Amino acid sequence: MALTETDEALWFQEDLYADIAYGFRVTAILHREKSAFQEILVLESPALGKVLVLDGVVQCAQRDEAIYHEMLAHSGIFLRLAAAPPPVAGLNVLVVGGGDGGIARECLKHAGVAQVTVVDIDPRVRETVLAHYPELPAGAYADPRLAAVDVDAAGFVRQHRASFDLIVADTTDPVGIALPLFGRDFVADCFAALKEGGAFVRHAGSLLLQTDEFVRTRDDVAAVFGTQRTRTGLLATCTYLGGWFTWIAAVKNAAYPEGDAALRVLFEQAAPDVRWYSPELQAASQVLPRFVAEK
Ligand code: SAM
Repeated sequence: MALTETDEALWFQEDLYADIAYGFRVTAILHREKSAFQEILVLESPALGKVLVLDGVVQCAQRDEAIYHEMLAHSGIFLRLAAAPPPVAGLNVLVVGGGDGGIARECLKHAGVAQVTVVDIDPRVRETVLAHYPELPAGAYADPRLAAVDVDAAGFVRQHRASFDLIVADTTDPVGIALPLFGRDFVADCFAALKEGGAFVRHAGSLLLQTDEFVRTRDDVAAVFGTQRTRTGLLATCTYLGGWFTWIAAVKNAAYPEGDAALRVLFEQAAPDVRWYSPELQAASQVLPRFVAEK
């Protein structure tokens, strides 16, 4: 049970792990439903602001969602721009999952982005944030450059070849409906769906609590894109339990840009309105602690 009453207070406890949990006090349940795919909750928390929860697992909270969304979206865009010349028609971005609109919102801060396609299997996630947590997409769904497609992203990616400049996989964890969005076959389908020089970014769980999942995901991406064209990154939030949280980035058939020099030039040109992301942070976050770098 994710929501419990104690001492006349309402508390939420995350259900992701069998042996460890974290929780926060809730002052209001803004929305609760069982969609065709998952249980959707929007909570109000004094510590975290509005919180989106799917099947008992926290997805985004007002307090710190920008850390995760900015790091994945801007790292992906600047990686793509540093790896190869920009397409004349502008960047074509695919968001796998991401129906909450946070990744799309960040991508759309770039004038050089021509199109963002958000492929989320569950339209109720989008409809719920628009009704109960509109600060999260923050107008992204009203942007004419955004297209929302309500299908299983695994099939969608398989149907596209050499179509996208950037793919950001912003999925729920590798169970149930999101399972087809993990594994080497899915990474290979994303590779095929990217244009030459295209970039791929995905989250890969908690470094300490999901070490095996992180190593497996990194190895899947490296096997498809090549070890020299794959990097891992770290970020930390207060809403994702488990200390350092990981992301993985790779480029298709182009050299992975080293350091922050090229990223800094591109960042100054694009000048997106950001609170957390910086090119220096992107480059610095790509250093792994020894215990896992050697795995
Ligand atoms: N940032 C989040 C996190 O890791 O905590 C993920 C955010 S986003 C809400 C995840 C989305 O993936 C959900 O809206 C869910 O509906 C979508 N999703 C899960 N499986 C999917 C699939 N097979 N195809 C498309 N979308 C999927």
